[in-house]
Amino acid sequence: MSGKVYIVGAGPGAADLLTLRAAKLLRTAQVVLHDDLVPQEILDICPAAAQVINVGKRCGQRGRSQEQINALMVWHAREIQSQTIVRLKSGDPAVFGRLGEELDALRRAGVEYEIVPGVTAASAAAAAARITLTDRRAASALVVVTGHNSRNESLSKTVEPARSTYALYMPGPDYSQTVQGLLDSGQELATPCAVVSNAGRANEEVRYLTLGELASAKGIPAPAVLIVGEVAAEHLPLRHGDLLSEISSEARDPYQHDRLPIYPAPL
Ligand code: SAH
Repeated sequence: MSGKVYIVGAGPGAADLLTLRAAKLLRTAQVVLHDDLVPQEILDICPAAAQVINVGKRCGQRGRSQEQINALMVWHAREIQSQTIVRLKSGDPAVFGRLGEELDALRRAGVEYEIVPGVTAASAAAAAARITLTDRRAASALVVVTGHNSRNESLSKTVEPARSTYALYMPGPDYSQTVQGLLDSGQELATPCAVVSNAGRANEEVRYLTLGELASAKGIPAPAVLIVGEVAAEHLPLRHGDLLSEISSEARDPYQHDRLPIYPAPL
């Protein structure tokens, strides 16, 4: 049976800001692939027998390409059938963490995965600075944006509505009115969105819709968050491709051929 990859948020760097779910997974992991920003205090939670591999981009010569990281996840899940592989990313894995590329690789390879959210840097920074990010007297929106845009766009272009994701808190109960507001601000009826009720709870429900469909949707439980923008298009499982043979030989050989560690040892 293939292993499962858990993409886990490590939070902003203090071990006690790790979620209990993340800690539980780290305690049972056979393989942990982590970024540079994850501190030793958190890595110490992993069992002594686990393979803990720094795949960070900042470790100079030994930094791994995104393609190699993808290959490592797939290889561990498929080729040696580890049960629990943790891809540990700083903060929340879905915020500026190149999660999209990693999920594409897992989907293409048909590897089962789950995402475990973490405390993102913006929340930790606001707490440290004693700031209310959405103090209703001063702000009604929170746009999360990068200063290092991969396309070198100016900040004003980066926050252009068509290339922005909106996370709307308290979107109901009148979704038609919410949709109208979004249309008035430049979104389109065909814009994809995901409405997530009870996120992270046992009764979580996710609906992938277009804004046009959302306007007449009924029975969406509260509490819910509405995520609007191209990133919210539903990712149907892709047909399984042979990722390991499609990618370059350098990346396919993540440990340099002759030193390939096999863990747990194959039968
Ligand atoms: N996924 C991460 C962000 C990864 S991008 C998250 O959700 O937080 C890396 C950037 O996050 C850093 O350059 C810095 O801007 C920010 N960052 C991460 N940890 C931080 C911390 N503890 N304090 C302040 N900024 C932090």
